Amino acid sequence: MREDFLLLNPGPVPVAREVREAMSAPMVSHRSAAFEAVYERAQEHVEYVFEGSTPSGDTTSAGGTALLLNGTATMGMEAAVGNLVGDGGEVVAVVNGKFGRRFARVAERYADVTRVTADWGAPVDLDAVADAVTTETDVVTMVHNETSTGLLNPVDAVGDIAADADARYVVDGVTSIGGDEFRIDDWGVDIAVTDAQKALAAPPGLSAVYVTDDVVPALDGEAAPFYEDIEWHLRKAESNQTPFTSAVPLFRGLAAAAARIREEGMADRIARHRRQAAAFRDGFHEMGLASFPELNDAAAYSNTLTAIRLPAGARGADAAAFMDAVTARGVSISGGQGHLGGEIFRVSNMGQLTAQQVVRGVRTVGDALDEVGVDVAVHDGVAAARATLEQ
Ligand code: PLP
Repeated sequence: MREDFLLLNPGPVPVAREVREAMSAPMVSHRSAAFEAVYERAQEHVEYVFEGSTPSGDTTSAGGTALLLNGTATMGMEAAVGNLVGDGGEVVAVVNGKFGRRFARVAERYADVTRVTADWGAPVDLDAVADAVTTETDVVTMVHNETSTGLLNPVDAVGDIAADADARYVVDGVTSIGGDEFRIDDWGVDIAVTDAQKALAAPPGLSAVYVTDDVVPALDGEAAPFYEDIEWHLRKAESNQTPFTSAVPLFRGLAAAAARIREEGMADRIARHRRQAAAFRDGFHEMGLASFPELNDAAAYSNTLTAIRLPAGARGADAAAFMDAVTARGVSISGGQGHLGGEIFRVSNMGQLTAQQVVRGVRTVGDALDEVGVDVAVHDGVAAARATLEQ
């Protein structure tokens, strides 16, 4: 691996040296005071991220607990749903991308699910959501930042609909929390989920769920999935423990990564992510490329990842050569998922990216397109990205 290898995939994202070093300390028991100190630190910092994700840095929750789970975000999604409708119920799942669909599929293991579906990349139809959510609905599931498309979904508007029907609201903030605004109380969120390996910039393997105090009476430990029983996790968290063996090195890595977020402060971090995502978009547009999807509403674009339509000459069967040309330059980006494979590419700005790395990402994509014969204005794109980063 080259020393300057640049990981721009939407997870896992680059992990800082001090995070990597924290993970290689000598092993301790997960029942030791040493581990409890790690858990306490990680939990406190992650709770700060969940509660303090506003452009002003103000807190967004009247009360709740961040739980750290041994397992990636899909486990967190299952924990959220399985603790509310573990023995059945009615769920409305908003689906306009791969991860909205995943939430529906997780919920279908436990409950009757009504999917409110839009094309991947199309905005959520709020009228359709309002029609689907009734007083019979127990839970509404929603993805904030749809990683498969780069669309930022209206968590607030769907939260109003859930609140009107007295339904519980569980939100996947996997690629927004830690990089963008996320308001727990204002948006009516009962349980929020995030992943260690995304905007928290920790290694993959852990997820975190934020459980509001309000939702605790609605949890059903008897019907919950055994490993993800939130009531049990809450009890153990009081003594900085988990019910089962903790992945000690990963918890150490998460504690170190989240401490870095605390140092930067969520307000500055959100501003940086917004600037960097705008720089990616401006750079690619100036080069002659188009966003996927093309939206009238700039606020609907993700601030943590950018999806771009592949141009003719790098699309479909030609996409592989373009991706190889990117990789050959020591940069890793992602293609489209599902039916968007060969149609789009995606770059992430989650974590601790520098302005220079954003510029390198823009230049690399331009040079790789050039190499496969697509005529793009690489220098103009780089200049536009630089200008946005300097604003
Ligand atoms: N939700 C979103 C929005 C994601 O982007 C991802 C992963 O990319 C997940 C959930 C699932 O994460 P994992 O595969 O790490 O469980």
